[in-house]
Amino acid sequence: MTRHGHVSLVGAGPGDAELLTVKAARLIAGAPVVVFDRLVGEGVLDLIAPHARRIDVGKESGRHALPQPEINRLLVDLALAGHDVVRLKGGDPFIFGRGGEEAEALAAAGIPFTVVPGITAASGCAAAAGIPLTHRGVAESVRLVTGHRQDDGELDLDWTSLADPRCTLVVYMGVASAERLAGGLRGAGLSGETPVAIIERGTTPAQRTLFTSLAQLPADMARWQPRPPSLLVIGQVVGKAISPALDALVREAAQ
Ligand code: SAH
Repeated sequence: MTRHGHVSLVGAGPGDAELLTVKAARLIAGAPVVVFDRLVGEGVLDLIAPHARRIDVGKESGRHALPQPEINRLLVDLALAGHDVVRLKGGDPFIFGRGGEEAEALAAAGIPFTVVPGITAASGCAAAAGIPLTHRGVAESVRLVTGHRQDDGELDLDWTSLADPRCTLVVYMGVASAERLAGGLRGAGLSGETPVAIIERGTTPAQRTLFTSLAQLPADMARWQPRPPSLLVIGQVVGKAISPALDALVREAAQ
């Protein structure tokens, strides 16, 4: 009987390859087979060994990609055939990455696997934009929320519990539902003046950070048309953002 391969579900971080964990970098460089997503940064893919087999299962919104059940099947089949696999996923595998579903499929098939955490978009992008996600006296908690609508229906979140002025909201996959988000939160009592940041392609050289307010969010989204991947940060901490200019001054002073 062939030995089952081992699958590592590895977090690739938000884009910048230097944000990989040491463990992720070691596993990627040594992997004979790497199955990766669209969100995995170029610099991270550069670490894959030249002789390794690369399997791209990524999806661009609207364009065809391998459906999740087929990705699960692929990982199981590769491992059953005896291959050790690194399954590379953007950010952290267990935060809106469907890593839980892949882990379930592997466990059900009796495949040994491990999970290597990655820096999730919320922490990567907030750090790159100078926004502290919590701040004493301003925000005592953070919530990570998905703006993705099930089956393209209306976004249905618990607006009352989300409209908390002392909790920072980080919305993944929220660009298409920004108007609904702003309406839902304001309808539940969150002030229209609440600051909002949209971070496009965070931690990459193409990063763009846009600042607005909850009231202006729908109009500004239409005007700016942020491209994927983009993340929304909503809350008073956005007002605490350390501007890049100030950041440069601080760096200069430290030298
Ligand atoms: N598992 C990933 C999230 C996958 S969901 C993680 O932990 O980060 C995909 C969403 O993540 C995107 O729609 C976007 O909202 C966000 N995202 C991921 N990388 C990003 C980046 N570099 N800049 C901005 N948003 C990002």
